[in-house]
Amino acid sequence: MRYDVITIFPEYLAPLELSLMGKAKETGRVNLNITNLRDFAFDRHKTVDDTPYGGGAGMVMKAEPWGLALEQALEATPTQEQLPLLIVPSPAGQVFNQQLAYDLAEEEHIVFAPARYEGIDERVLDWAETRFRVLPVSIGDYVLYGGEVAVMVMIEAITRLIPGAMGNPESLEEESHTGGLLEYPVYTKPADWRGHRVPDILLSGNHGAIARWRRDQQIERTFDRRPDMFKAYPPENWDKKDRKK
Ligand code: SAM
Repeated sequence: MRYDVITIFPEYLAPLELSLMGKAKETGRVNLNITNLRDFAFDRHKTVDDTPYGGGAGMVMKAEPWGLALEQALEATPTQEQLPLLIVPSPAGQVFNQQLAYDLAEEEHIVFAPARYEGIDERVLDWAETRFRVLPVSIGDYVLYGGEVAVMVMIEAITRLIPGAMGNPESLEEESHTGGLLEYPVYTKPADWRGHRVPDILLSGNHGAIARWRRDQQIERTFDRRPDMFKAYPPENWDKKDRKK
């Protein structure tokens, strides 16, 4: 997987060098390229924004530097079979979720265009439509200062689904947002901490009973915390022994 990120704050993405994400980079499972948008602004002040046509608050990112930076990212596309994907982080985009992360993990090349200010001149997206598959994506119904954090969220969620990029791939199987239920609670040693005991069942060694308890916990948690997910749980996924609340 090749990621290109075009930003005016390359240093914002430094944490992607750490931990399992850094390892995925080191081992070549992902190739992360960060480009400074200001390298494509040629006036003395390297200006990337200007006032909005029609007036109003804030500034808008100029089309010229974005056009040049995106053209450069296009040159790096490993295959010509299909247009590369251009993800434009935006609170007005499709909401990111685990299913989208799974779909994106199948891509070969993703270009991210995180904006600042009031966003990018809309003509950049129109122009890009013939060169990329353009996908505006929101990471949730709130507004950030800029798109870099949204890019980090997406890159982490996508990368851990790429084969070999997860410390223990079994962790993916039961986790929240994969099978339609939230994950069960987890505990580690000591068995008694400040008077709070680990549930006895987890110390029983009875694997069948533990699996049953965990499944019950998943159902209960999802019912309590995410009634929307509980309602949407596919009827065919219910087990005969499940207590459906
Ligand atoms: N005026 C824009 C609006 O109301 O839709 C918000 C602009 S925001 C201050 C600047 C940039 O941050 C956006 O263009 C986008 O790149 C990023 N951003 C902010 N919130 C985001 C979110 N929830 N998801 C993804 N990107 C976001």
